Amino acid sequence: MAADTNSFYQDSTRVELTDTEALVGAHQADVAVVGGGVTGCSAALYLAEQGYDVALIEAHSIGWGASGRSGGQILSGFGTDMDVIAKSVGLDAARQAWEMSREAVRLTADRVRRYAIDCNLQWGAIDVAAKPRQLRALSRTQQHMRDIYGDEDLVSLDRDALWERVRSPAYLGGLYDPNSGHLHPLNYTLGLARAAQAAGARIFEASRVERLTHGRPAQLTAADGTLTADFVVLAGNAYLSSELAPNLRDKLMPVKNYMVATQPLSAHQVAQTLPYDNAVADSNFVLDYYHLSEDRRMLYGGQVSYGNRAPRRLRARMVAKLQRLFPALEGVDSTHQWGGLVGVTRNRAPHLGRLDSNVYFAQGYSGHGMAFAGLSGKLIGEAIAGQAERFDLYTKLDHRRFPGGDRLRTPLLVLATNFYRMRDWL
Ligand SMILES: Cc1cc2nc3c(=O)[nH]c(=O)nc-3n(C[C@H](O)[C@H](O)[C@H](O)COP(=O)(O)OP(=O)(O)OC[C@H]3O[C@@H](n4cnc5c(N)ncnc54)[C@H](O)[C@@H]3O)c2cc1C
Repeated sequence: MAADTNSFYQDSTRVELTDTEALVGAHQADVAVVGGGVTGCSAALYLAEQGYDVALIEAHSIGWGASGRSGGQILSGFGTDMDVIAKSVGLDAARQAWEMSREAVRLTADRVRRYAIDCNLQWGAIDVAAKPRQLRALSRTQQHMRDIYGDEDLVSLDRDALWERVRSPAYLGGLYDPNSGHLHPLNYTLGLARAAQAAGARIFEASRVERLTHGRPAQLTAADGTLTADFVVLAGNAYLSSELAPNLRDKLMPVKNYMVATQPLSAHQVAQTLPYDNAVADSNFVLDYYHLSEDRRMLYGGQVSYGNRAPRRLRARMVAKLQRLFPALEGVDSTHQWGGLVGVTRNRAPHLGRLDSNVYFAQGYSGHGMAFAGLSGKLIGEAIAGQAERFDLYTKLDHRRFPGGDRLRTPLLVLATNFYRMRDWL
């Protein structure tokens, strides 16, 4: 669908892979990775550097899924409150999880530097509040994260301090995190894949895995080839078809999320919108998020849909919304519109685990995966290499099925989301 494919990132790709091919014939590896997003590329990179023979299979091309289409915000924390994590695994483990989410951001930055990935990494992210209730919640978060999790770096911004950074009359204040930021997500994902190739990993593109035969070794079957491996990493996330791993699907809801890119802004328009080029997200349940591209376009996301069809007049509606947020953008048009699937879990915490002792998976970062997927790929790598404690911290998180079975779970989620959307308006 055109609405999905006209991504600004595809038109600004700078990172090239060395030759890739389709999976044809019978192949073997120590580790087979299914999916070429951040999770899969990170696992492949880590394991190849540890000396494993790794083969990654991607149905389309590297970064084709959420990783290459995302808002590119590199964020500490998770898609859910730390309280949800603490309730599930206890406060000590939640503190470790928080530290690891910070590690995920540092890992991202380290890799960008070490592998010279040309992806315009910029620092500084702000959660903004449009309602007094949201502002109070941000202030509670800042205190809670300082007092319970030892994060001294989050800064509460009142209306004037926020105005310095986000020139929208819509907001009352915000919470600034200097340790989060944004980057070009497709170039970053391709950069990880290129580094994995350099470390010896083989990458097969245009090869959809149609069957997983469990065992030791396990076997993956695509249309024209097979891959036999001692370990399998399922990193298809919201794009993984249910036949490959039926038990994973009922704990994950794929939600379509859309973005637009504007034409490049003038220096004046930048000064009147995001003079510090921070990553911004609002506090709504279905949230809006945005930042500037390297060539000064506003990259703006937030609309969702639950079926295959994009909402009507999506592009015009998103541009109009953006202009309401930033009057300085009046007359600015969009050049690109695209969408991608976000894998959401019921509690919005990431879902990591094993389907078998040698089949690992990670999914459901709930819109918060650009940094954490990098760490989760590494954690899977550590577990395969024999150090599973850090990976297992996440397998202890309690994940429940979405109610309603295959037929009813989407309508039920739409109902629930509409309820929260209504609450956002109040
Ligand atoms: C529009 C949008 C905006 C977002 N914005 C942000 C953001 O700003 N910050 C943030 O932290 N997160 C954001 N996210 C979420 C983030 O992009 C994801 O959490 C993250 O990219 C997930 O990475 P992944 O590698 O697990 O999955 P993906 O990147 O989706 O990769 C999965 C890959 O597996 C492949 N695959 C699936 N099945 C098979 C098969 N059978 N055989 C072979 N290959 C297969 C797919 O083709 C796909 O390329 C956003 C997501 C979307 C869609």
